[in-house]
Amino acid sequence: MIKLQNIEKVYRTDTIETLALNGINLHVAKGEFLSIMGPSGCGKSTLLNIMGLLDEPSNGQLHIDGHTVTKLSDKELAGFRNKRLGFIFQSYHLINDLNVLDNVELPLLYRKVNAKERRRLATAALEKVGLSNRLRHFPTQLSGGQKQRVAIARAIVGEPEIILADEPTGNLDSAMGNEVMDILIQLNQQDKTTIVMVTHDEQMARKTHRLVRLFDGAQVQ
Ligand code: ADP
Ligand code: ADP
Repeated sequence: MIKLQNIEKVYRTDTIETLALNGINLHVAKGEFLSIMGPSGCGKSTLLNIMGLLDEPSNGQLHIDGHTVTKLSDKELAGFRNKRLGFIFQSYHLINDLNVLDNVELPLLYRKVNAKERRRLATAALEKVGLSNRLRHFPTQLSGGQKQRVAIARAIVGEPEIILADEPTGNLDSAMGNEVMDILIQLNQQDKTTIVMVTHDEQMARKTHRLVRLFDGAQVQ
């Protein structure tokens, strides 16, 4: 589903050059739930952002679902990201001025889905994460775990093949973290969504199919 070949990432500024990824080779199978761990600064977010087409590698090739995405134009990349990928972040990235339903409908608005269909799909996604009773609430009125569940509903509303999650339980206590993790496991098992998750939490990582450890931009063997 996702194949990385000799992926390198160098961040350059006028004075500093940082080798963030040093030749990553990784194959994520369709339907797999993979976690990535490693110390701060080892390249986890960079790797996830490259898989999520949010950032470009300096060298190497990235294939997703048989497409060599390193060769696509910016417009094609945006389309690919919008249709096939869902993102979840540690800090939720919800829009505080929009209620729960409107937050979840947002990706569909970008896809020009009509209002009635947006409402139907967003309601269904929120039901899946157990938030049918919070549709008209605003993010500031929700707990951290509820906010992350809204973010998951937003990530899945367009039925992505792949979910990329950057420390999805990082801001949550263990009870709320486990709730979020259970939802991700359910999406993986029932909907067969491929999931790649960065985490600092060994306990969460152990619930996934496979763990890849990074150190200084390379995989620990
Ligand atoms: P992690 O997610 O494992 O904490 P990151 O992928 O964020 O690590 O960062 C990997 C390395 O790349 C770090 O040394 C970091 O300082 C560097 N880095 C990340 N983003 C940038 C950037 N935009 N410009 C320069 N260096 C960066
Ligand atoms: P934090 O550690 O501050 O919680 P996140 O995990 O929320 O960081 O975000 C990781 C990276 O993804 C950041 O570099 C951020 O700029 C970027 N990012 C966050 N949200 C989006 C988004 N909706 N679209 C594109 N990039 C994003």
